[in-house]
Amino acid sequence: MAMGAVRVLCGAEKERVVGTRKASGECPRCGGAVVATDVESERRILGLPLCLKSKRKYSCTRCFRRLVTLYS
Ligand SMILES: [Zn+2]
Repeated sequence: MAMGAVRVLCGAEKERVVGTRKASGECPRCGGAVVATDVESERRILGLPLCLKSKRKYSCTRCFRRLVTLYS
């Protein structure tokens, strides 16, 4: 029995980028454009989808700073 394969299947989380789009507002640090990234995160147990979460991340296109606190 392959124990390594079981561990990989158990509770592995996959993240998938659904799409990106331009967000309103600007970066408080450098004034660059803010982009919103929609990410779908999926957790599978033994190949069965357990839960599906989608979240939106904001980041600056110029200095690449994560702008979580600004919009959450
Ligand atoms: Zn910036």
